[in-house]
Amino acid sequence: MTAGTSLGDDLRSLYQGIILDHGKSPRNFRVMEHYTCRVQGKNPMCGDKIVVTAKLDVNERLEDIAFEGKGCAISIASASMMTETLKGKSIDAMWRLSKAVHGLCKGEFDANEAKALLSIDLASSIDKLASLSGVRQFPVRVKCATLPWHALASCIEGKTQATTE
Ligand code: ZN
Repeated sequence: MTAGTSLGDDLRSLYQGIILDHGKSPRNFRVMEHYTCRVQGKNPMCGDKIVVTAKLDVNERLEDIAFEGKGCAISIASASMMTETLKGKSIDAMWRLSKAVHGLCKGEFDANEAKALLSIDLASSIDKLASLSGVRQFPVRVKCATLPWHALASCIEGKTQATTE
């Protein structure tokens, strides 16, 4: 086994660890009372159903984001990482990171290419979010990982329902 192969295996297990951690102990998994927008997101392929709520401040920053619902470990972990990453960030940052996550999950680019597309402060979020890129080997799982991001974008656009279909 070469050093490169071993590093790859280590990274894979690290990524798996992050997803398991967020799947078991999701961050910001709660009901938000005073929200700006609320959307129900569904992924019929897997059965994931999550509700995303967001509160925008006067400067259009995501002052608070929360989610609740039921889903597989991938969808819950993705939602958890999304809320943790985007809290306090601007709508513009949300669109940029959402595009990066979609690209990572669909296999359009790797973590370094995703970072190159982002400003330094946003690029630092990619290390954690890149853990979701493992789904690219499992096409059915791509929608599990992107569901929360799709739902949040729909929420910001004023929709109340979002589906991956
Ligand atoms: Zn799922």
